[in-house]
Amino acid sequence: MSDEQRAERRRSDREFARRAVAQLQSSDGWSAWLTARSRFHNYSFANQLLIAMQCPEATRVAGFRAWLKLGYCVRKGERAIRIWVPAPPSRGRLARWREHGANPLEEPEVRFRLGPVFDRSQVEPLPPPATALPLDPPITPVEGDELVGALDPLTSLAGDIGCPIAFEPMSGGRAGSFDAHAGRIAISTSLSPNGQVKTLVHELAHALARIDRADGDPPLGYAEEELVAESVAFTVCASLGLDTAGYSIPYLASWAEAAEPGMLERPAAMIDRLARRIEAAIDAVEPAWTMRDPTGGERG
Ligand SMILES: [Zn+2]
Repeated sequence: MSDEQRAERRRSDREFARRAVAQLQSSDGWSAWLTARSRFHNYSFANQLLIAMQCPEATRVAGFRAWLKLGYCVRKGERAIRIWVPAPPSRGRLARWREHGANPLEEPEVRFRLGPVFDRSQVEPLPPPATALPLDPPITPVEGDELVGALDPLTSLAGDIGCPIAFEPMSGGRAGSFDAHAGRIAISTSLSPNGQVKTLVHELAHALARIDRADGDPPLGYAEEELVAESVAFTVCASLGLDTAGYSIPYLASWAEAAEPGMLERPAAMIDRLARRIEAAIDAVEPAWTMRDPTGGERG
């Protein structure tokens, strides 16, 4: 394929992603997930520490009654995680304060006490007719191993740009991470080979977006960089013959909410350049790199 053909293909990949994101965001499944998500608090740093100490694997935490409203029940025998919860003054204390002249300096304060919350791993869906709201965006994991041959060239590229890769178990269902400070990429060993390739391209795009900036690149906030990284992963995997839409589109949609409108198009040239660099690294190892024959033939 010529450079122009590739650029044209990536343009149509981006256009497909933009439309699919818009479609997903207007679907029922998506709004059910948004409803569920909106019912979880953002906990203070002190409470995040308390949660992490008592339940390191915790991902979604809510009180007993909040779980009921979401359509889940805490399993019998589960041990509560204790965090600081506000305890407003009792009606009696407020009434006495008013009787004594309601001096603003003596107004009863909200106090904090340790109250019980539970992680999603401690709850189960309520039986019908209750309906449990989805706790995850409707993301389909990337399965299969046809792209396993791309792992080596991607690992070499990571080494070339000074970001060694560690394949390691990761907690909380995370797929991968890029630590800009340490210059290190981590990929979860629990992913399928295709999932590792997709994640590796995503993390490499994060790394290149920082290391390999060009003049015209727009400044990227947190959400924008996620959009760029996953757009690169989507388009590079598509060029290798792997459709990751089931994962990439919900992922893009979840970040698109936090990004400015048009954020899938504004960094188009940047997405194109990062994708080209990563595709070139994979192409460079041909003929060792060949797609597996989907009919089950020998690897070439
Ligand atoms: Zn990312």
